[in-house]
Amino acid sequence: MTDNVYSTICPGCNFGCGLYIRENGALEVDFRKSSPANSGKLCRFGMNLPKLFAPTKSMVDGKETTIEEAAKEAAKRIAASKGSVVFLSLGNTTSEELLAFQKIAESALYTGAVAALPEDTYQTLNIGIPYSEIEAAKHIVLFIDPYEQYPLIVRRLLSARNKGAKISAVWWKDLPLADENIRPGDVSKLALTKDSLIIADYNPLSDTEQVKNVLALAKNAGTRITFLKPFANSTGGYLMAKGIKQKSISQLVEDINKGTIKILFCLESDPSVLIPSETLSKLTYLIIQTGQTLSTKANIVIAHEPLYKKKGTLINNEGRAQALGGTGTSGLDALGIIAGAKFDFDSLHESVKKAIGITVVDEFMMPKYERLEYGALQASAKPMDAKTALVSVYNPFMWSGLADDNDFVELNLNTVKALKLLKGGSIRIKSNGSTIEKKFKVAPVQDNILLTSNKFGIEKGIITPVEVSR
Ligand code: SF4
Repeated sequence: MTDNVYSTICPGCNFGCGLYIRENGALEVDFRKSSPANSGKLCRFGMNLPKLFAPTKSMVDGKETTIEEAAKEAAKRIAASKGSVVFLSLGNTTSEELLAFQKIAESALYTGAVAALPEDTYQTLNIGIPYSEIEAAKHIVLFIDPYEQYPLIVRRLLSARNKGAKISAVWWKDLPLADENIRPGDVSKLALTKDSLIIADYNPLSDTEQVKNVLALAKNAGTRITFLKPFANSTGGYLMAKGIKQKSISQLVEDINKGTIKILFCLESDPSVLIPSETLSKLTYLIIQTGQTLSTKANIVIAHEPLYKKKGTLINNEGRAQALGGTGTSGLDALGIIAGAKFDFDSLHESVKKAIGITVVDEFMMPKYERLEYGALQASAKPMDAKTALVSVYNPFMWSGLADDNDFVELNLNTVKALKLLKGGSIRIKSNGSTIEKKFKVAPVQDNILLTSNKFGIEKGIITPVEVSR
């Protein structure tokens, strides 16, 4: 039997790493050296893709069914609840599917934090800069932990440093590749010039005041800024939804809690990462259309093909259009059942190219995007009032709900001594009425901060005030 080999893009973040997925009974990952974003290299998440693509089944109220029947049942329930249905996509599927999805979204499309920010910042937030500009920068300022969050950027940073770039990090922990480490509370010590380039992160749980703060820093110093994002086609999601009314996740949570939203339809997005379980339990129906394993129980699961089998276009952080090597359109067909009219891939594809401003999808060609100016921003980032806090370092494993082996927190030696923690022992962390016990690792972290790259179930957003003891 010959293997099926698909040339595809990793859905772990929107860095846009290319790879091959080989089907030979089990799934295997092969390196694609020609990929312009990553030259074949992958991070741990990319190497773990076979686990993410474990097959899922279409279900209605716990019973297995076909994708068509699941989509028909979803269509029926959506039609019966007009006015109280919300459609959520974070951009983890093809631009063609996202365009179709928009057409069925009856009122609002929820895609993340963007709605809470001024509209003139959207282009800057969503379209990054070519990675070649990062490698050529003279001064790079990191508002991320590249090793944990967007590992493939580390190569670009090291290349810039080898060419003489200075790297500053504004982070909770000293980063080994930085020449200068500044704590987030001391950001006023950061010296920016027109030659600096800020790399930040922008995700659905981002603190909007913090994002405004970083945008304002860049604006005031005339510094270039780029935001990395966690979902493979976040940039495509923005380009396809330009001009469409959108709402933030916090608005969505409020609407479900108020009872004005009864059905949530998620396209290739795991709501449990974003929405508290007590809020999700208030929904009459949760419908998830996906091609990968789920960590959330949904009333209806519409199981389309995994991303690597799809036909369609992804747009990476640089704005580079990348074609998937599959032929599948079952996701698009299921959306057609819900819309009550079949979607034609070719005409959607033409619209996608038009939205990008290209005539052909070629990953080696960089489309031209305007770098639009944004106005002055008033940011009022709150100083951290908690004595001790757990800081979640969001990374591909956390967004996808895929288990990782990092079941520990990082803290510094002062915290270890103050709490009299024992070597090889654990730390008790109390928050929101729950207490958990975790292993710890000593690292050059800010005093009274615990860093985690895992989800423990006690978090309240990125920064969670906690009480700690031995
Ligand atoms: S998770 Fe991001 S950095 Fe890692 S392989 Fe996938 S696209 Fe690349």
